[in-house]
Amino acid sequence: MIEFVKLKRQYDLFAQEYEEAALRAMRSGWYIMGNELKEFESEFANFVGAKYCIGVNSGLDALIMAIRALEIGPGDEVIVPANTYIASVLGITEHGATPVFVEPDEYDCIDPSKIEAAITSRTKAILPVHLYGQSADMEAICAIAKKHNLYVVEDCAQSHGALDRGKMTGTFGDIGCFSFYPTKPLGALGDSGALVTDNSVLAEKLFKLRNYGSGKKYVNEMTGKNSRLDEIQAAFLKVGLKHLEEGNSYRRHIAQRYLSEIKNPLVQLPRERENGYHVFHVFALKSKDRDKLQAYLLKNGIQSLIHYPIPPHLQACYQELGYKEGDFPISERFAKEELSLPIYMGLPEEEVSQIIDAINRFKGE
Ligand SMILES: *Cc1c(COP(=O)(O)O)cnc(C)c1O
Repeated sequence: MIEFVKLKRQYDLFAQEYEEAALRAMRSGWYIMGNELKEFESEFANFVGAKYCIGVNSGLDALIMAIRALEIGPGDEVIVPANTYIASVLGITEHGATPVFVEPDEYDCIDPSKIEAAITSRTKAILPVHLYGQSADMEAICAIAKKHNLYVVEDCAQSHGALDRGKMTGTFGDIGCFSFYPTKPLGALGDSGALVTDNSVLAEKLFKLRNYGSGKKYVNEMTGKNSRLDEIQAAFLKVGLKHLEEGNSYRRHIAQRYLSEIKNPLVQLPRERENGYHVFHVFALKSKDRDKLQAYLLKNGIQSLIHYPIPPHLQACYQELGYKEGDFPISERFAKEELSLPIYMGLPEEEVSQIIDAINRFKGE
């Protein structure tokens, strides 16, 4: 069986470094908010090219805290792609703000030409998602935000190291939100996430928010959370960051093979923006025969996944928003046609060849 992802293979590539990092963190005797976190935050800020990095518990917490730090709440609207992972939307609704969905472009990211029609007097921010590891069209999005005086919060949970016109995702907007869930381009060996920003006022607020709203022990200026990135995960992330670019280029190599060697009229391959750097967290193809293709691949010993089968506006948890099937036809079609192929550091070339051969033999039944 060719599994969709086999993290053990990735771990084995750098096992010694991970094990040394774990021992170092364990033997330090300091487990929360110590040197490992400080060093990782500084290394990650440096890598992204942002002034501040604030480590937190998860990518969802990063999104929740970004919206909170911008003081967006009930009565406010945030523009978000209709074809994203639920967490992008949960970050908005956690504070009682209203998500306003916009359809994707042909690169699977929010379509800038449809954003202005969604702006109202209540709009406070645009939340683009660099879906599958490819940057949204940030030049166009930031121009719209500037014109309408809106914040930009980037969901970079899938785009560590991805570029738009040479600039790193996470540095275009007011705040960039990252997840380090184990399968992400930069993954911990557990949950964690981070925010990046150049704004010192926002950074100071975020440093407090993750720690009960307190900058000084037992002095609370706001009601915060406990959302800290622990020392052992920070130590793992320092190892992962060292190998991030290696992983990104290996996934790009596999993507290049899929793009040039898959030749089947029943399959539509993903498009890469010309002046971007796509890190292929997900290799997302589309097919009208998606369900048959997935079953066929499984019969041939190949696992695939769907990112994502139900768009947020049709999820039961958002029933009260009052959307129905047909409201966002492009996103709904993507949910029916999208299929993700295995792509990760440690995936052997022979398995890539088997996947390509199997897809090329698929006849639609
Ligand atoms: C993974 C992911 C998140 C959430 O990150 P967690 O660390 O799992 O909370 C948010 N947005 C997108 C687009 C993601 O892929």
